Amino acid sequence: MGIGAFFRRLFRPGPIQVDYSGTADDRLKSLWRERHKLTGHAVDELTKELARRGIEMRSAEPEPKVEPSFDPAWRAILQKRVPFYDRLPPARRARFEQKLAQFVETKRFVPADGMTITDEVKVVIAATACRLMINLPILFLEPLQWVKVHPKAFRDSSGRTVCGIGCREFVEIAWRELLQGLKNPSDGFNPGYHEFAHVLDALDGLDGVPPCLSPLLYGYWVEVMNEEFVRAVRGQSWLSPYSATDKLELFAVATEMFFEMPKTMRTHHPDLFEILAAFYRQRPSGSR
Ligand SMILES: [Zn+2]
Repeated sequence: MGIGAFFRRLFRPGPIQVDYSGTADDRLKSLWRERHKLTGHAVDELTKELARRGIEMRSAEPEPKVEPSFDPAWRAILQKRVPFYDRLPPARRARFEQKLAQFVETKRFVPADGMTITDEVKVVIAATACRLMINLPILFLEPLQWVKVHPKAFRDSSGRTVCGIGCREFVEIAWRELLQGLKNPSDGFNPGYHEFAHVLDALDGLDGVPPCLSPLLYGYWVEVMNEEFVRAVRGQSWLSPYSATDKLELFAVATEMFFEMPKTMRTHHPDLFEILAAFYRQRPSGSR
């Protein structure tokens, strides 16, 4: 039986009621069940089927034993430029600072178009990357070698004016637009989150599906994102119109909106919110 037929056999559309108690996996199972009126047995069957087809969770490698040094002077930069920093609970803030220091130490920052690379530039760019990474292994960013920083929006190789470019080994980012994105933390625009989402996506091939999804999450991810893409192409999506470009952009745009407008996303699109929360292993503050 093809995977399409397998899905069709199992799924019947229905209204969605999400049970928010329990773990992230429980929530996903609850979403599946409610969305398709599946029995627990059918969910297990689907999980096994996906696993049998080689769609398995690859376990993350352990964190490296590097002790990066977070310079206390960076706190003033973060307080000035990065509004979410002060809202991080203490335990998360410590993890965030550690990952940020590791990012600053291990990535090469390259100036473009007359840009000057300062500690402020490094720390602010690292902050947007590490917000995504708070509960993900920092090794996910290991292939990333360098970040080229432009003073403002720039032309890409096809002549389009862009705020950033993101792939497995490098990111290019427009400093002015990055600061604008951070200054308005709830408008759904942040080129830093956007480009670093592409970096994560590209880890196992740039296809709009990030790495290390459990079989359950993988199946749900593909279905929800495909449906959303169809809506985006028709101009009916809640996500910004750029998400209709292709599925890579859909994931990057959804990431921006997940971190900047979590409450609205959770209210209007619980499916999308839950799959992103399950991947990033966090529920941004303000989502409840
Ligand atoms: Zn993009």
